Amino acid sequence: MFTPLPDKPDHPALELEILALWEREGTFERLRERNRGGPRFGFMDGPITANNPAGVHHGHGRTLKDVFQRYKAMRGFDQRYQNGFDSQGLWVEVEVEKELGLGSKPEIEEYGLDRFARKCRDRVAKYSEVMTRQFVRLGQWMDWDNDYYTFSDTNIEYIWMFLKEVHRRGWLYKGHRSTQWCPRCGTSLSQHEQAGEENYVELEHPSLFVRFPLTDRTGEALVVWTTTPWTLPANVAAAVQPDAEYGLTEDGRWVAVALFPDEAFARRAPGSELVGLRYAGPFDDLPAQSGVEHRVIPWDEVSLDEGTGIVHIAPGCGAEDFELSRVNDLPVIAPIDEAGRMLPGFGGLEGLTTNEVAEPVVDSLRDRGLLVSAGTIVHRYPICWRCKTPLVFRVVDDWFISAEEIRRPMLDANATVEWTPPQYGKRMDDWLRNMGDWNISRKRYFGLPLPFYECECGELNVIGSRAELEERAVSGLDQLEELHRPWIDAVTVRCAACHQPVERIPEVGDAWLDAGIVHFSTLGWRNPEWKEHGYATGASAGVSGADLPDHAYWEQWYPADWVSEMREQIRLWFYSQCFMAVTLDGRSPYGKVLTYEKVFDERGKPMHKSTGNMIDLDDALSRMGADVARWLYCAQVPSQPLRFGYSLADDVKRRLLTFWNSASFFVTYASISSFDPAAEPGKPQPLDRWLVSRTAQLVRDATEEYERYWTPGVVAAFESYTEDLSNWYIRRSRRRFWADDTAALHVLWNSLTQALRVIAPVMPFLAEYLWRHLVDAEDSVHLAPWPEPAAIDEALLAEVADVRRVVELGRRARDEARLKLRQPLRRLVAEGAPLAATHAAEIADELRVKEVEFGGVDASELRVKPNLPLLGPKLGAALRDVRDRLQRGEFEQLGGGRFQVDGHVLEADEVIVERVGREGWAVASEDGVTVAIDTSLDDELRLEGRLYDRIHEVNVLRRDSGLEITDRIRLWLPDADLLERYGERIAAETLAVSVERGDLRLEKA
Ligand SMILES: [Zn+2]
Ligand SMILES: [Zn+2]
Repeated sequence: MFTPLPDKPDHPALELEILALWEREGTFERLRERNRGGPRFGFMDGPITANNPAGVHHGHGRTLKDVFQRYKAMRGFDQRYQNGFDSQGLWVEVEVEKELGLGSKPEIEEYGLDRFARKCRDRVAKYSEVMTRQFVRLGQWMDWDNDYYTFSDTNIEYIWMFLKEVHRRGWLYKGHRSTQWCPRCGTSLSQHEQAGEENYVELEHPSLFVRFPLTDRTGEALVVWTTTPWTLPANVAAAVQPDAEYGLTEDGRWVAVALFPDEAFARRAPGSELVGLRYAGPFDDLPAQSGVEHRVIPWDEVSLDEGTGIVHIAPGCGAEDFELSRVNDLPVIAPIDEAGRMLPGFGGLEGLTTNEVAEPVVDSLRDRGLLVSAGTIVHRYPICWRCKTPLVFRVVDDWFISAEEIRRPMLDANATVEWTPPQYGKRMDDWLRNMGDWNISRKRYFGLPLPFYECECGELNVIGSRAELEERAVSGLDQLEELHRPWIDAVTVRCAACHQPVERIPEVGDAWLDAGIVHFSTLGWRNPEWKEHGYATGASAGVSGADLPDHAYWEQWYPADWVSEMREQIRLWFYSQCFMAVTLDGRSPYGKVLTYEKVFDERGKPMHKSTGNMIDLDDALSRMGADVARWLYCAQVPSQPLRFGYSLADDVKRRLLTFWNSASFFVTYASISSFDPAAEPGKPQPLDRWLVSRTAQLVRDATEEYERYWTPGVVAAFESYTEDLSNWYIRRSRRRFWADDTAALHVLWNSLTQALRVIAPVMPFLAEYLWRHLVDAEDSVHLAPWPEPAAIDEALLAEVADVRRVVELGRRARDEARLKLRQPLRRLVAEGAPLAATHAAEIADELRVKEVEFGGVDASELRVKPNLPLLGPKLGAALRDVRDRLQRGEFEQLGGGRFQVDGHVLEADEVIVERVGREGWAVASEDGVTVAIDTSLDDELRLEGRLYDRIHEVNVLRRDSGLEITDRIRLWLPDADLLERYGERIAAETLAVSVERGDLRLEKA
């Protein structure tokens, strides 16, 4: 009944086989059916951007989600398996622009917003299919036909509902602000989008020192420093630090003294004395500058670390400059348009980009004698998170949600959340404490249409639902295909205040509104009755089949018990969903979070297409297999960057092979013995009782690790168990398997099948494959109940742990003395492993020694050396004497690893202790256990050594001759002494029916 296993698993091939099997048997549907009505475990999937094929970093998050959903399913939990696709916003637009070869907003508009919207939807539809195939291949079990798409009209309506509520509370406002702007995308970007490290790069820019002549003081000028020449034509003021000291050089330049310490100054004055002075601006002739009076203003934030200590202020080009314009009542000159090109009013500069402006600006300053010096500087500079274009600042109107009133409630909500690893909860707190108002508007096309209708009468009409839109619409409803531009733009509504028709503002919303609302939109928060396929509206009609549940369902599944995304989502999805949920419902939308760091290559370097170390997810899955990839994702601590690559995968394969070999060993002997798991187990031996306890320990430990969402713990527990199973239980029990011992077979079968269930969530394919070989060819390990741990005999586990330590050290000592294990030795002494004392015979057998003693090891010398970095500073001049005494062995042991030398007490970490075998002994020592082996050989031991060599040689020959494990042989050996002394033993160990003298050979009997 047991079919033998191949020598080693072909992971990818085996996985495809299992995928087909699951499909055929409807395994996942049966699992869900079985758990329906059981206790609920609410998981909410964070939507993934369906814009390109998934990479190995997506595989990471997907694996973690799947592991815990599978675990909870095995434990009988009823769950939601709805996958989410993020499907509108800048990321989709930028890729579609590339696809269509469009490079600017006017080109998109010329192409047509309707066609553009369709292209965006088609791209999402295409890549959501591609990704689905990839995630199925990875082994993720999701309800793939019922994905939610954030571009659905339903999702959009729920965001409208949220925005209306925000408006009702008075948090919504239009801000006229200086904001980070992407000149390629033609939109402002918000703090949380841009906050990541990856959104800064080193760039080279001009570095200019420019003279601003003071109008009231002939021959004197301010000197300012700038790296953005395009902002100089928009200059309106120069800022100084009032308390700082400034100096006037011999040739009439004012600078901060602190920045030019070597300069000889003709005059010195505090900054406050310069405040109010007027100067000639660098580009006063430009029409844009007409009527501007340039003056010196005070500013405490002026940096005295770089530049000149005098800062050029252009309120149209920077956030701080803009703030200063409010305080000091300065004019605001905006020099660039949406695309980052100079506006009319800037003479010959008009139409040039911010880069192109640099050269004419420098030339003009030089011609007019205003340039002090020009060079370049390399500095960190922000780039667009989506298209990587360097950003500029523009003053524009944007829509904001004030964060002030929600900040405290969000912090309170976050305090109820259990974060894994816990330090990320603090990061969330930090983000919340520092978050600015939420800039929700983007001047783009395929995104959430902001439902704001600003009337000339001053009324801001905010529409909260499609029903409200229909009710208040004046025109355009007939052509409204979906709630996207351009269709939504054609709908006008009646102003609530003056009853005039009003148009929608053109802006669309921040994509994080789309993702943040899903706890409400997908669960049917405000929906009175269940609508089949009711969520799949607007752009998602025909792409998804998702239902819109009713409010009762929302009550059941909200808040989610658990969510998991990567760390950068703290300022993105975790933030937006918390913001929206606390606003609408007052609670955190999730109870527990697992978050994790990024995926890097095997050397810990970021993966990039350009550096050639990028690994394609499909490639990884088809080369290493999904189980191996999943193992890599699960084995590493989530708070560290994850390393991923093919040589690490080979390592994993080797480790998985140990377990495979144990299963294969079982299958081999079980089929020879026609083992029946249902038959009487037979009488267990002490080692069997140990394995039962050891297996129970695995079940208990792994369960605890799953419960705390800690995959590295699960993997570590399984790996150490596999090691014990293979290198202790099976090694020590081989003879019993040869002898058809049913107790051993039974215990091994039982242990393997429990271990398979424990590890099935992490490596679902291999576990399934082996389960079908070991337990039931017809049924799935994933439908098996979670194992109940047997009683654990802790004392026995501790004993065997000590035994294994002694054996391990014994092997190491033999290795160091170059005495192979086949050479019997006389004596072993073990110290520091008292629990192993009752297992002396096993140790003797494992290490092939005649006698095992427990007690003090005097076969070794203690060598103590000073740990110089610690002891040097402590002892000073006395160090030399202490070192010499240590070397001569003049020290006293104080216990706890401490030593006393000539009145000095040396702590354990201040010394380096080694044990070295005395002549004739090999010694190994670790963690307080020391094992010494007598290395002397006599004739008797040498003869026995030859015996084991011969037996080994014959067994290799047996295998090379293609004999089955059970085949009997006739054997010829040349060694008269061995035949005489050990003939019967040789026969027994090699399954020989006869052993005779002759040249070494064998034949099948
Ligand atoms: Zn951009
Ligand atoms: Zn009005």
